[in-house]
Amino acid sequence: MKIFIDAGHNYSGHNTGAQGNNLREQDITFEVAKILSERLKWAGLQTKLSRETLQTNLGKDNAGSINARWQAANAWAADYFISIHVNAGGGTGAETFIADTKRSDLKFAEIVNDEYCQKMGLKNRGVKIDAQTAHKSLGVLRNTKMPAILIELAFIDSSLANPDVEILRNRKSEMAAAIADGLLKFLARLSPVQGMQGISNNANFATNNNAPNANNTLQINILGNIQEIPGYIENDTIWVQMRLFAEKLGFAVGFDGTPYVTTQNGENVYIQGNIVDLPVRQAGGVTWVQMRQFAEKLGFTVGWNGKFATVHKF
Ligand SMILES: [Zn+2]
Repeated sequence: MKIFIDAGHNYSGHNTGAQGNNLREQDITFEVAKILSERLKWAGLQTKLSRETLQTNLGKDNAGSINARWQAANAWAADYFISIHVNAGGGTGAETFIADTKRSDLKFAEIVNDEYCQKMGLKNRGVKIDAQTAHKSLGVLRNTKMPAILIELAFIDSSLANPDVEILRNRKSEMAAAIADGLLKFLARLSPVQGMQGISNNANFATNNNAPNANNTLQINILGNIQEIPGYIENDTIWVQMRLFAEKLGFAVGFDGTPYVTTQNGENVYIQGNIVDLPVRQAGGVTWVQMRQFAEKLGFTVGWNGKFATVHKF
């Protein structure tokens, strides 16, 4: 799954962004895009940024700058395109634009926009169809071949009585996380049967820094049912009891002197042996594995939103 992330505007010269309250749009869009990219990679998605560094300037003029973005997304054959912008004009809140030519964009835009506004506590100005914009950037929406949205994070020149400027100045990681959550929610919705065939962990991990102990459990939501699985956290890494975790994911576990899992291809994956060398611990007669590496070996992707781990299959 390939996500193209467009950090709106250029650093200097042509196609620079809006300014207000000693902030520059092009600096904010780059920082948020970069963090968003990292988070999505963490969730198992491939990402590509339109501006690879803060100082990157695309194209030779305004039109060239816009063209470079959608052309790069099309050339890369992205599955989804997200353009990050910041609004101006003295209002408050967030809104998301889509082209009027691609029906597939609307739900994508609605879910990301709603999630973002709710998480950030910003006024939800809704999803708007590309008709006119001060940015003149919506060529990225019309000319991309894949579903594409352009989110306006907040107003850079808003009154300080509104939350916009404080958010743009100080909460870039939260903005990126909210967009990532919206995208993952949208992707999960696409295929409710195969999609999110997995778990989200509802445990308060910060309180679970314990050594291997079958009595210490993590609450895990598996296919909508909250269940408890023996697990613990160490140095930000989640360890789970291999057999129970594998079985929850629908795999069988065997033992022929070394524990192994039979995958859906019929392959026997030895967790610590000469086939796959994954970290493993033996404690109390039980095998413990690192959840991420183990889940990925079985074809799942693992994400982390700062509170909950998610294991899913796209
Ligand atoms: Zn803009």
